[in-house]
Order: sequence, then structure tokens, then C-alpha cells
Amino acid sequence: MTKYLRSKTENKNFDVIIIGAGIVGSMIARFLSRYKLDILLIEKEADVCMGTTAANTAIIHAGYDPLPGTLKAEMNILGNRMWNTVAGELNIPFERRGDYVVAIGKKELPHLDELFQRGVKNGVPGMMLISGDEVRKREPDINPDVSGALWAETGGITDPFAANFAACENAVMNGVTLLLETAFEAFVIDGKRIVGIKTNKGTFGTRWIVNAAGLYSDDVMHKAGIRPEFKITPRKGEYYVFDSADISVNNVLFPVPTVISKGIMVTTTVHGNTIIGPNAESIQDKEDTSVTEEGLTEVWRGAVKLVPKLNLRYAISLFAGLRAEGNARCKNQNVNYSHDYVIEIPAEIQGLVNLGGIESPGLASSPAIAQRIVGLLKDAGEKLEEKSDWNPIRPARPRFRDLSKEEQKILIHNDPEYGRIVCRCENVTEGEIVAEIHSPIPARTYDAIKRRTWLGTGRCQGAFDTPRVVGILSRELGLPPEQISKKGPGSEFLVGKTKKV
Ligand SMILES: Cc1cc2nc3c(=O)[nH]c(=O)nc-3n(C[C@H](O)[C@H](O)[C@H](O)COP(=O)(O)OP(=O)(O)OC[C@H]3O[C@@H](n4cnc5c(N)ncnc54)[C@H](O)[C@@H]3O)c2cc1C
Repeated sequence: MTKYLRSKTENKNFDVIIIGAGIVGSMIARFLSRYKLDILLIEKEADVCMGTTAANTAIIHAGYDPLPGTLKAEMNILGNRMWNTVAGELNIPFERRGDYVVAIGKKELPHLDELFQRGVKNGVPGMMLISGDEVRKREPDINPDVSGALWAETGGITDPFAANFAACENAVMNGVTLLLETAFEAFVIDGKRIVGIKTNKGTFGTRWIVNAAGLYSDDVMHKAGIRPEFKITPRKGEYYVFDSADISVNNVLFPVPTVISKGIMVTTTVHGNTIIGPNAESIQDKEDTSVTEEGLTEVWRGAVKLVPKLNLRYAISLFAGLRAEGNARCKNQNVNYSHDYVIEIPAEIQGLVNLGGIESPGLASSPAIAQRIVGLLKDAGEKLEEKSDWNPIRPARPRFRDLSKEEQKILIHNDPEYGRIVCRCENVTEGEIVAEIHSPIPARTYDAIKRRTWLGTGRCQGAFDTPRVVGILSRELGLPPEQISKKGPGSEFLVGKTKKV
């Protein structure tokens, strides 16, 4: 088993503990791992990237959407600029394809100008208003009633799973301790200072706590006794995924936004699938990622308004994600369109770096948020001394389907496991699965392998590969097949043996 995996830590005292290994917590861990700090990252689930980061549109927004003067706008613009470097260092897919906000019919046209002006105020470079004719020329499948579009050349797409794992893996390789299935329960407070946390795996001492708990960030800050009025309301967004073999759009197509969201869009992923969504529905349950008939109908109507040729017959999967909408007001108090991010070291209690309401564009903003946390700690007097051996590079592992025939031959020659295809839709090999099981953050469940390799995401949705993956996990982890699960304890595939063989 990898030298990085720890089921418990011998060290009980840390300089910094980060709660939550989504993209925000993982990016913060990675940025802080540059300094001589003893850092613990805890995650309540069985793997990293199991919260909101696992279900979103994967867009690195250009930054014309958030209101000028907000932290959201600032983080989006800075974060967008940082993605080339971050993606290069972490070896993750990132394509700066640009994006379109499309107006259908004359009535929607004025919205484009509004967004353009907002983008100018936010400092978005490379925007252009283009005519309906020009959009029809560039995107032949667009609704012929298109009257114009805002084009933003800095918009991009990434793989949020890859980004989350790679940031966390790089943090772990640079000395951060990651504990999975470790849930924050309470603070240990001495007077007005946080000195530790209680978890289901024991108590840990620390000088700083970073609240990166996503949908649960309100609970965490309330336990520290701050911002009692702050509340996260989950806002659900549902999606269809289409088979890459049947439908493909080249670009990121937004409709004009509504008052509560950026609207239902049609976009491509870095893996070539077209996805449509999300709608926006406020709900109460922070764990409810079910899809609904009403939600999917709304998504479908919104998407065919942009691209009428979409055909539901080619939909292969559905999913839903929950935006962590907070209620902290924007600096511009006259508008109620958007709530702002909370990123602060509150005065009321010492030792807390508090984040909340990191809804979209949280993925795009994550490197900038991490950099801001470094700045906040420096401002608070923390002496951040750089390590001489910090390595920003996270090496990529081979992806069989992306290699040339020659490269594939060499790989198979060196390791015959790369010659055995386990997922036929996405061409994922046994070698890739085994490499992920023994990686710095070992994949220990079916979903962990799926999110790292893209296995099981094609037309058959895992029908062929699942039994084989269960077998490989069982063999490599030295566990009976009955203990192999989809996403952690309670989701085991098998209940027992039917025959004594
Ligand atoms: C429908 C939708 C579309 C979106 N589209 C985009 C987009 O295109 N571009 C973009 O930039 N952003 C987008 N976003 C927003 C983006 O996905 C989020 O801002 C981002 O993923 C938030 O990351 P996070 O790390 O804060 O949260 P999460 O990924 O939810 O991570 C928080 C982690 O904390 C853990 N945790 C919680 N409580 C505890 C505890 N007590 N103890 C230990 N661990 C705990 C959770 O298990 C979770 O893993 C979208 C969001 C949604 C829902």
C-alpha cells in the first residue's frame, strides 16, 4: 500500500487543520503545503471529491457574471487567470475554449449588453458582442432565432474530479496528512481561541482551522459561535449527459441568465460528452441529489431552446448537484440577485479561517481562494516559511485511450495489465485501475476508480466493468469481494456467497 495512506495519524497536533476535501479544501491544502506547516486535511466521506465538486458544469467561468465589487467577482477573475499554471502543474485537462451567452429573439439582446458591461467592470479580458449571423456561422446547430451572443475567450472547461484529486494528491505528496471517513464534530475552545477539534476518529490539536465544509460550512461556523445568521440553502441543479458518439457541441453555450442562476446551458466536457443543465431549485435536504421529473423537464426545455437538434434518445446518464448558497450580502446592498462568498478570519474567535457560500463559480475560483487564505494567514502574523523541497508538479499517470498506438504498445510491453481493457466504452485498462488503487490517495471504491479513470461513464454505464472492478479491488486491497463498495461503507455490491465454491 502506498506510503501516503494513513488510516489514523500518530501526530495529534497540527499547525493547520482543513475541514473538507472538495476542490476548495484540497486547493487550500495544496497551496499551504508549500510552507513549513504540519497540515491535516479531514474528509467525512470515503474519498475526496464526493461533495458539490463531484456534480457541476465544470466550467472555468470568464467572470462577467458575478456582481462587480463582490468577493465572488474578484475570486473568479483571479482564479480564471491562474488556471493555466495550476492545470499545467497538476497535469489535469483544461481547455480555454471560450464561451458564448446566447440571446434568442430580440427581447433577450439587451441582457448581453448588461453582461458585457459587468464583465468590463470586473476586468474580464477578450469579450466581444457578436451578431446572430456570426453565431449561426460558428455554431451551426444553434437555434436559428439566435439574435446575438456575448463571446468571452477566457472561458474554459476542466475535469473537476481530476482537479480535486490532483490538488489533493499534490498536497499529500508535499507532506499534508489526509484522513478520510473523518468527520468534524466540535471545536475545542480555550477562552477565545480554538485549540483543537473533535472528530469521530479522535481529538486533534491545532493552531488554525480552515472551514472548507461546503454545504455544511454554516454548521461548522455556528459551532465556533460566529455568524449565527448565516445559513446555507442547498440549490439543486439537474443534468442530462449524452453519449459522445451521438451528439457533440463544440462550445460552451449559456442562455441569458435568470435572476437566480446562469441558466440552463448546453456544453461539452473535456471527455467529449455533451451535457445539458442545470436548473435551480432551493431545497432543504443537504444530501438530496436525486433527479426529478419536473427538474429534468425544465432542463430539457431550456436546452432545446438553445440547440433544437438535441435528441433525448442519446441521453446516457442523469445527475444532480447542490449549490451551497449562503446568505451573506453582497457589498452592493442594493441588489439581491446574488449572495457573496465569506472568506475571512473572524475577529470574534482566534484560530479560525472561515469560508462559506462558495457556490458557483467556486471551481473556477478555487486557486484564487487558496491564494487568499495564504494571504490571510500572513496578515494574521503567521510566519510562512517556504520549504526548499516543495514540488508543485503532480505527475500524471498514463491514460491508455489518449496514447498513440506506439505508446500503447510500449506500455503493454512494460506492464501487460495495460493490455487488458476493463471498460469497453471508455477504453480503460486494468493497468490504469491498479495504478489508481496504489496511488498517493488510493482508490478504494468503485466510484473512486470511476472518478479517477472515467471508467463506467460511457454508454453501458458500468454494466460490463463493475464485476471486474470489484474483483480487481478485492485482489489488490486484499479484501473479500463482499467488502467492496460503490462509494464507502453501506454501499457494498455483494451480500454473500450463493454457492460454496
Ligand atoms: C449545479 C452546479 C453547477 C456548478 N457549476 C459550476 C461551474 O461550472 N463552474 C464553477 O466554477 N463552479 C460551479 N459550481 C460550483 C462548484 O461546484 C462549487 O463552488 C465547488 O465545488 C465547491 O467546492 P467545495 O470544496 O467548497 O465544496 P465540496 O465539494 O462540497 O467539498 C466540501 C467537503 O467537505 C466535506 N465535509 C462537510 N462536512 C464535513 C465534516 N463535518 N467533516 C469532514 N468533512 C466534511 C464534504 O463531504 C465535502 O467533501 C456548480 C455547482 C453546482 C451545484
